[in-house]
Amino acid sequence: MFVQRRTINTDVSITGIGLHSGIYTTVELHPAPAGSGITFVRADLKGLRIPALQASTTALDYATTVGKDDVQVGTVEHLLSAIMACGITDVDIHIDGPEVPIIDGSALPFMHLIDAAGVRDLGSEIPVLRLREPIEVTHGDKSIRITPANRLIIKYRIDFDHPSIGRQSAHFDFGHDNFLRKIAPARTFGFMRDVEKMRAAGLARGGSVENAVVLDDRGVVNGPLRFRDEFVRHKVLDLIGDLALIGRPIAGEITAHRAGHALHSRFVEQILQAAAAQEAEAEAPLGQRSIQQQFA
Ligand SMILES: [Zn+2]
Repeated sequence: MFVQRRTINTDVSITGIGLHSGIYTTVELHPAPAGSGITFVRADLKGLRIPALQASTTALDYATTVGKDDVQVGTVEHLLSAIMACGITDVDIHIDGPEVPIIDGSALPFMHLIDAAGVRDLGSEIPVLRLREPIEVTHGDKSIRITPANRLIIKYRIDFDHPSIGRQSAHFDFGHDNFLRKIAPARTFGFMRDVEKMRAAGLARGGSVENAVVLDDRGVVNGPLRFRDEFVRHKVLDLIGDLALIGRPIAGEITAHRAGHALHSRFVEQILQAAAAQEAEAEAPLGQRSIQQQFA
Protein backbone atom coordinates (compact mmCIF):
# COMPACT_ATOMS: atom_id res chain seq x y z
CA MET A 1 0.00 0.00 0.00
CA PHE A 2 1.33 3.40 -1.03
CA VAL A 3 0.21 7.01 -0.48
CA GLN A 4 1.25 10.22 -2.21
CA ARG A 5 4.21 12.12 -0.79
CA ARG A 6 3.02 15.61 0.13
CA THR A 7 4.48 18.96 1.13
CA ILE A 8 3.10 22.46 1.75
CA ASN A 9 2.55 25.07 -0.98
CA THR A 10 4.22 28.08 0.54
CA ASP A 11 6.22 29.29 3.58
CA VAL A 12 4.22 29.99 6.74
CA SER A 13 5.33 30.92 10.25
CA ILE A 14 4.14 31.04 13.84
CA THR A 15 5.76 32.52 16.97
CA GLY A 16 5.28 31.74 20.62
CA ILE A 17 6.71 30.68 23.96
CA GLY A 18 8.16 27.22 24.63
CA LEU A 19 6.22 25.27 27.27
CA HIS A 20 9.31 23.96 29.04
CA SER A 21 12.12 26.40 28.14
CA GLY A 22 10.04 29.59 28.44
CA ILE A 23 11.96 30.81 25.34
CA TYR A 24 10.13 32.53 22.46
CA THR A 25 10.81 31.01 19.05
CA THR A 26 9.53 31.37 15.50
CA VAL A 27 8.77 28.25 13.49
CA GLU A 28 8.72 28.59 9.70
CA LEU A 29 7.43 25.73 7.57
CA HIS A 30 9.02 25.53 4.10
CA PRO A 31 8.10 23.21 1.20
CA ALA A 32 10.63 20.38 0.74
CA PRO A 33 11.40 18.03 -2.17
CA ALA A 34 10.08 14.45 -2.33
CA GLY A 35 12.19 12.07 -0.28
CA SER A 36 13.74 14.67 2.02
CA GLY A 37 11.37 13.80 4.86
CA ILE A 38 10.35 15.96 7.82
CA THR A 39 13.36 17.91 9.04
CA PHE A 40 13.95 20.48 11.79
CA VAL A 41 16.41 23.19 10.73
CA ARG A 42 18.00 25.29 13.48
CA ALA A 43 17.95 28.61 11.64
CA ASP A 44 19.91 30.25 14.49
CA LEU A 45 22.71 27.63 14.29
CA LYS A 46 23.89 27.71 10.66
CA GLY A 47 20.89 25.73 9.54
CA LEU A 48 21.85 22.52 11.37
CA ARG A 49 19.44 19.84 10.15
CA ILE A 50 17.80 17.40 12.57
CA PRO A 51 15.62 14.74 10.89
CA ALA A 52 12.29 14.14 12.66
CA LEU A 53 13.09 10.47 13.14
CA GLN A 54 13.16 8.11 16.09
CA ALA A 55 16.98 7.90 15.80
CA SER A 56 17.13 11.64 16.62
CA THR A 57 15.17 11.46 19.90
CA THR A 58 17.22 12.60 22.87
CA ALA A 59 14.74 13.22 25.70
CA LEU A 60 11.23 12.13 26.63
CA ASP A 61 10.47 13.87 29.94
CA TYR A 62 6.96 15.32 29.63
CA ALA A 63 7.62 16.03 25.91
CA THR A 64 9.51 14.63 22.94
CA THR A 65 12.87 16.16 22.03
CA VAL A 66 14.98 15.52 18.94
CA GLY A 67 18.61 16.52 18.59
CA LYS A 68 21.97 16.19 16.94
CA ASP A 69 25.47 17.09 18.22
CA ASP A 70 24.17 18.65 21.49
CA VAL A 71 21.69 20.80 19.58
CA GLN A 72 18.05 20.10 20.34
CA VAL A 73 14.51 20.92 19.38
CA GLY A 74 12.00 20.19 22.14
CA THR A 75 8.25 19.61 22.36
CA VAL A 76 7.99 18.52 18.73
CA GLU A 77 4.97 16.25 19.16
CA HIS A 78 2.02 18.63 18.68
CA LEU A 79 3.43 20.10 15.46
CA LEU A 80 4.40 16.65 14.15
CA SER A 81 0.93 15.36 15.00
CA ALA A 82 -0.65 18.07 12.80
CA ILE A 83 1.87 17.42 10.01
CA MET A 84 1.05 13.72 10.09
CA ALA A 85 -2.72 14.35 10.14
CA CYS A 86 -2.34 16.51 7.02
CA GLY A 87 -0.53 13.67 5.23
CA ILE A 88 2.66 15.74 4.86
CA THR A 89 5.74 13.55 4.29
CA ASP A 90 8.29 16.20 3.32
CA VAL A 91 8.71 19.61 4.96
CA ASP A 92 11.52 21.73 6.42
CA ILE A 93 10.71 23.16 9.85
CA HIS A 94 12.99 26.15 10.44
CA ILE A 95 13.21 27.18 14.09
CA ASP A 96 15.36 29.87 15.71
CA GLY A 97 15.60 28.35 19.19
CA PRO A 98 15.42 25.16 21.25
CA GLU A 99 11.69 24.47 21.51
CA VAL A 100 8.58 24.49 19.31
CA PRO A 101 6.11 27.12 20.62
CA ILE A 102 3.25 25.67 22.66
CA ILE A 103 0.73 28.33 21.46
CA ASP A 104 -2.56 27.18 23.08
CA GLY A 105 -1.34 23.70 24.10
CA SER A 106 -3.17 21.90 21.28
CA ALA A 107 -2.47 21.07 17.61
CA LEU A 108 -5.22 23.35 16.29
CA PRO A 109 -2.94 26.39 15.62
CA PHE A 110 -0.62 24.12 13.60
CA MET A 111 -3.57 22.74 11.62
CA HIS A 112 -4.61 26.32 10.80
CA LEU A 113 -1.01 27.15 9.85
CA ILE A 114 -0.80 24.21 7.42
CA ASP A 115 -4.25 25.06 6.11
CA ALA A 116 -3.03 28.60 5.37
CA ALA A 117 0.00 27.21 3.50
CA GLY A 118 -2.01 24.66 1.51
CA VAL A 119 -0.83 21.11 0.81
CA ARG A 120 0.21 19.60 -2.53
CA ASP A 121 1.13 16.18 -3.89
CA LEU A 122 4.79 15.75 -4.82
CA GLY A 123 4.16 13.30 -7.66
CA SER A 124 5.79 10.30 -6.01
CA GLU A 125 4.67 7.70 -3.51
CA ILE A 126 5.73 6.48 -0.08
CA PRO A 127 5.00 2.96 1.19
CA VAL A 128 2.73 2.68 4.22
CA LEU A 129 4.23 0.53 6.96
CA ARG A 130 2.05 -2.49 7.69
CA LEU A 131 3.36 -4.99 10.22
CA ARG A 132 2.37 -8.61 9.82
CA GLU A 133 2.72 -9.54 13.50
CA PRO A 134 1.45 -7.77 16.64
CA ILE A 135 3.91 -5.89 18.86
CA GLU A 136 3.39 -5.02 22.51
CA VAL A 137 5.46 -2.92 24.90
CA THR A 138 4.62 -2.81 28.61
CA HIS A 139 5.95 -1.09 31.71
CA GLY A 140 4.19 -1.99 34.97
CA ASP A 141 0.49 -1.35 34.33
CA LYS A 142 1.19 0.76 31.22
CA SER A 143 1.00 -0.85 27.82
CA ILE A 144 0.79 -0.17 24.11
CA ARG A 145 0.30 -2.65 21.30
CA ILE A 146 -0.32 -2.76 17.57
CA THR A 147 -2.13 -5.44 15.61
CA PRO A 148 -2.30 -5.65 11.81
CA ALA A 149 -5.00 -3.53 10.09
CA ASN A 150 -5.43 -1.78 6.76
CA ARG A 151 -5.66 1.69 8.23
CA LEU A 152 -4.55 3.49 11.40
CA ILE A 153 -6.91 3.15 14.35
CA ILE A 154 -5.98 4.32 17.85
CA LYS A 155 -7.68 3.22 21.05
CA TYR A 156 -6.39 4.97 24.14
CA ARG A 157 -7.35 4.56 27.79
CA ILE A 158 -6.15 6.59 30.75
CA ASP A 159 -6.86 6.26 34.44
CA PHE A 160 -5.91 9.19 36.67
CA ASP A 161 -6.87 9.31 40.32
CA HIS A 162 -8.29 12.82 39.93
CA PRO A 163 -11.94 13.99 40.11
CA SER A 164 -11.77 15.81 36.74
CA ILE A 165 -10.09 12.97 34.83
CA GLY A 166 -10.69 9.47 36.21
CA ARG A 167 -11.09 6.82 33.55
CA GLN A 168 -11.36 8.02 29.97
CA SER A 169 -11.12 6.20 26.68
CA ALA A 170 -10.91 7.32 23.07
CA HIS A 171 -11.38 5.46 19.80
CA PHE A 172 -9.89 7.38 16.90
CA ASP A 173 -10.09 6.47 13.22
CA PHE A 174 -7.12 8.29 11.72
CA GLY A 175 -7.93 10.88 9.07
CA HIS A 176 -7.55 14.63 8.50
CA ASP A 177 -11.15 15.68 9.17
CA ASN A 178 -11.56 13.46 12.20
CA PHE A 179 -8.29 14.75 13.61
CA LEU A 180 -9.22 18.38 13.01
CA ARG A 181 -12.58 17.98 14.75
CA LYS A 182 -11.92 15.49 17.54
CA ILE A 183 -8.22 15.48 18.40
CA ALA A 184 -6.43 18.68 17.30
CA PRO A 185 -8.28 21.01 19.76
CA ALA A 186 -7.37 18.86 22.82
CA ARG A 187 -4.84 20.73 24.97
CA THR A 188 -1.94 19.49 27.03
CA PHE A 189 -2.55 19.37 30.77
CA GLY A 190 -0.57 19.68 33.97
CA PHE A 191 -1.02 19.49 37.72
CA MET A 192 -0.32 22.43 40.03
CA ARG A 193 1.29 20.05 42.51
CA ASP A 194 3.97 19.15 39.92
CA VAL A 195 4.81 22.69 38.85
CA GLU A 196 7.49 23.46 41.45
CA LYS A 197 9.24 20.14 40.92
CA MET A 198 9.10 20.57 37.13
CA ARG A 199 10.39 24.16 37.22
CA ALA A 200 13.28 23.06 39.44
CA ALA A 201 14.11 20.49 36.73
CA GLY A 202 14.03 23.19 34.02
CA LEU A 203 10.57 22.20 32.80
CA ALA A 204 7.21 24.02 32.48
CA ARG A 205 8.91 27.45 32.57
CA GLY A 206 6.63 28.74 29.82
CA GLY A 207 3.55 26.90 31.08
CA SER A 208 0.51 28.96 32.06
CA VAL A 209 -3.28 28.89 32.12
CA GLU A 210 -3.08 30.25 28.53
CA ASN A 211 -1.40 27.15 27.10
CA ALA A 212 -2.39 24.15 29.21
CA VAL A 213 -5.34 22.76 31.10
CA VAL A 214 -4.20 23.30 34.69
CA LEU A 215 -5.53 21.10 37.50
CA ASP A 216 -5.35 21.48 41.25
CA ASP A 217 -6.39 18.71 43.64
CA ARG A 218 -10.10 19.59 43.30
CA GLY A 219 -10.54 20.20 39.60
CA VAL A 220 -9.72 22.26 36.52
CA VAL A 221 -8.39 25.71 37.45
CA ASN A 222 -8.92 27.32 34.02
CA GLY A 223 -12.11 25.80 32.64
CA PRO A 224 -14.16 25.19 30.68
CA LEU A 225 -12.68 22.14 28.98
CA ARG A 226 -12.99 21.88 25.19
CA PHE A 227 -14.22 18.29 25.57
CA ARG A 228 -15.30 16.43 28.69
CA ASP A 229 -12.62 13.86 27.81
CA GLU A 230 -10.06 16.38 26.54
CA PHE A 231 -7.31 14.58 28.49
CA VAL A 232 -7.47 11.25 26.67
CA ARG A 233 -7.91 13.03 23.34
CA HIS A 234 -4.66 14.87 24.01
CA LYS A 235 -2.92 11.53 24.66
CA VAL A 236 -4.03 10.42 21.17
CA LEU A 237 -2.64 13.70 19.78
CA ASP A 238 0.72 13.06 21.50
CA LEU A 239 0.89 9.47 20.26
CA ILE A 240 0.30 10.52 16.63
CA GLY A 241 3.14 13.04 16.97
CA ASP A 242 5.44 10.34 18.33
CA LEU A 243 4.41 7.95 15.51
CA ALA A 244 5.55 10.59 13.01
CA LEU A 245 9.12 9.69 14.05
CA ILE A 246 8.70 6.35 12.22
CA GLY A 247 9.39 8.42 9.09
CA ARG A 248 6.50 7.12 7.01
CA PRO A 249 2.77 6.51 7.41
CA ILE A 250 1.73 3.44 9.40
CA ALA A 251 -1.39 1.27 9.33
CA GLY A 252 -2.50 -0.90 12.26
CA GLU A 253 -4.80 -0.95 15.25
CA ILE A 254 -3.02 0.55 18.25
CA THR A 255 -4.30 0.03 21.78
CA ALA A 256 -2.63 2.14 24.47
CA HIS A 257 -3.30 2.08 28.19
CA ARG A 258 -1.81 4.73 30.49
CA ALA A 259 1.14 5.21 28.14
CA GLY A 260 3.21 8.37 27.63
CA HIS A 261 6.14 9.66 25.59
CA ALA A 262 8.68 7.22 27.07
CA LEU A 263 6.55 4.17 26.28
CA HIS A 264 5.50 5.59 22.88
CA SER A 265 9.20 5.90 22.09
CA ARG A 266 10.06 2.30 23.05
CA PHE A 267 7.04 1.21 20.99
CA VAL A 268 8.26 3.11 17.91
CA GLU A 269 11.69 1.53 18.33
CA GLN A 270 10.13 -1.95 18.38
CA ILE A 271 8.04 -1.09 15.31
CA LEU A 272 11.15 0.02 13.40
CA GLN A 273 13.03 -3.17 14.35
CA ALA A 274 10.09 -5.35 13.30
CA ALA A 275 9.75 -3.41 10.03
CA ALA A 276 13.45 -3.90 9.23
CA ALA A 277 13.20 -7.65 9.96
CA GLN A 278 10.00 -7.95 7.92
CA GLU A 279 11.56 -6.15 4.95
CA ALA A 280 14.79 -8.22 5.10
CA GLU A 281 12.64 -11.35 5.08
CA ALA A 282 10.60 -10.08 2.14
CA GLU A 283 13.71 -9.42 0.06
CA ALA A 284 15.00 -13.01 -0.21
CA PRO A 285 11.92 -14.54 -1.88
CA LEU A 286 11.62 -11.42 -4.04
CA GLY A 287 15.18 -12.07 -5.34
CA GLN A 288 14.23 -15.66 -6.15
CA ARG A 289 11.12 -14.48 -7.93
CA SER A 290 13.06 -12.10 -10.12
CA ILE A 291 15.46 -14.92 -11.12
CA GLN A 292 12.47 -17.11 -11.99
CA GLN A 293 11.05 -14.27 -14.04
CA GLN A 294 14.35 -13.92 -15.92
CA PHE A 295 14.21 -17.60 -16.87
CA ALA A 296 10.50 -17.67 -17.65
ZN1 LIG B 1 1.16 16.85 24.40
